[in-house]
Amino acid sequence: MNAVTQMAQTARPAFGTVLAEHMAVARWHDGAWSDCEIRPTGPIEIHPAAHVLHYGSTCFEGFKAYRWSDGSINVFRMDRHIERMRQSARALVMPEPGAEQLAGMVRAVIDRCRATVPEAPGALYLRPVLFGTTANIGAAATPSSEATLVVLASPVWDYFAGGAKPLRIFVDDVNTRTASHIGMVKTGGNYAAALGPTLAARQRYGVDQVLFCPGGQVQETGAANFVLVGEGQLLTRSLDPSFLHGVTRDSLLRLARDSGFEVEERVFHVEEMLERIRDMEAALSGTAAVLAGVGTLVYRGAEHRVGTGETGPITRRLRAALVAIQQGEAPDRYGWLTRV
Ligand SMILES: *Cc1c(COP(=O)(O)O)cnc(C)c1O
Repeated sequence: MNAVTQMAQTARPAFGTVLAEHMAVARWHDGAWSDCEIRPTGPIEIHPAAHVLHYGSTCFEGFKAYRWSDGSINVFRMDRHIERMRQSARALVMPEPGAEQLAGMVRAVIDRCRATVPEAPGALYLRPVLFGTTANIGAAATPSSEATLVVLASPVWDYFAGGAKPLRIFVDDVNTRTASHIGMVKTGGNYAAALGPTLAARQRYGVDQVLFCPGGQVQETGAANFVLVGEGQLLTRSLDPSFLHGVTRDSLLRLARDSGFEVEERVFHVEEMLERIRDMEAALSGTAAVLAGVGTLVYRGAEHRVGTGETGPITRRLRAALVAIQQGEAPDRYGWLTRV
């Protein structure tokens, strides 16, 4: 038994706190990427004048590799996540990693960490991160000409260990999570921007997360998309640049459509949401938790129970259907998994 497996059995470390022993690193310099280097996970030297530290030139991705019961390791929607990373880099005027290059780095890391990929319901969470390293504190309006790309891996265990407690969510129609043109980019500054309002709401209302609803339009939380589901129906905000286009969201919509749900993607407001939760379920979607039920919404000081206040049966069914595909227990009808 290796150290990581042992740790999983003695205690369940919080998501993201345990890193695999190796990482992949590549550097952009003089207009070209260096070869990928695999090295022990650890500190990277960075100049204090580096572009990322002052002007926030950074983006990342997050996705999972699953160990199936036949022992094979399979990555969920790798191409889609790599494409989103490339799109984030472009949006931030950063050097764009090649799709083949990034896939190669991901494969190299998984290969080195093969033994530490947990059994289902655990997974190996993969975290590519790109940051601008040019040392120039006068570059507020100049892109970084140098950058570093790292692929980290982290064994993660069941997100719902200890029971899937329904979430308490604060509905915020005052603050915005990010600037409207950059919400679809997975960039550090967006999370920094959401942190203050989220901590304040936690302290004040004892909630888990904040559902940002700028101008009264329901959007998403700090790190997950928001969906309403009912018997044969699903309602979620239509895609626009103001929020993150989740791969989990896309996958759930596909599954829902193909099992006969009427899927509505459109703008809707807080008032309609409060109306609909009387007979619909609410849930957050994202790679980490897949689909997590919402039990209570707190809006303008009042508590609104979602359905029975428990994670609903349709939420659990949709989640189970997606997890079954990820873990190789249901056929991969859509070609979502890549064996590595
Ligand atoms: C990563 C993320 C999501 C979920 O995206 P997935 O691709 O489903 O993991 C949703 N919202 C935000 C803000 C995110 O950062």
